[in-house]
Amino acid sequence: MSLILDLIFPKICYGCGKTGDYLCSKCQKHLIILNTKAPKNGFDGGLSLFKYQSSIKSAITDLKYNFVSDNSTILADLMAKILKSNFPNLVKYWHQNNFILVPIPLHQSRQNWRGFNQSEILAEKLSQKLNLNFSNQIIVRHQNNSVQARLKNIKDRSINVANIFSLHQKSGNLKYKNFILFDDVSTTNSTLLSAQKTLKTLSPSQCWYLTLSVG
Ligand SMILES: [Zn+2]
Repeated sequence: MSLILDLIFPKICYGCGKTGDYLCSKCQKHLIILNTKAPKNGFDGGLSLFKYQSSIKSAITDLKYNFVSDNSTILADLMAKILKSNFPNLVKYWHQNNFILVPIPLHQSRQNWRGFNQSEILAEKLSQKLNLNFSNQIIVRHQNNSVQARLKNIKDRSINVANIFSLHQKSGNLKYKNFILFDDVSTTNSTLLSAQKTLKTLSPSQCWYLTLSVG
């Protein structure tokens, strides 16, 4: 089936336009990999893998707005590959300390409209590849982010996201755990900070963040 689909809808590289894959091996080598961030703003550490530009930006845009959800597999593969090769000790540390990968949730109305949450798909696939715990039942988003998108001012955004998440009703037994908040793109970090604030009510031992890219 996928062979037939590949013939009808060939995968085209976001970097060079060559057919065969969404991100060919040559273009993967040209991606600039970013480094880990020291503890800041209540996070025990953080990592955004790539800049939100060129082929990564095109891939995320296609995933979010053109519903090309099968490119999530190559993005998750790419993240797993880079994390294992460039940050092996960090992956080992997360693994040994039972960190739970927690995707930033979409508001239910947004998820219903899109049909999926791209961060959730990416985080779940990544957790399988890295053998990490995963849960989409720890935090929920009670405020729609369409309001957020209309606010141009960074300060307005930060105030606006102050309280957009709440704990999931099943999160009660998750005290003192280690979490990694996951998002596809972070721009001002205000969404991650807001989610962290909600997670902190569970008194986690550690709270990290991981994003595929940073804008
Ligand atoms: Zn290419």
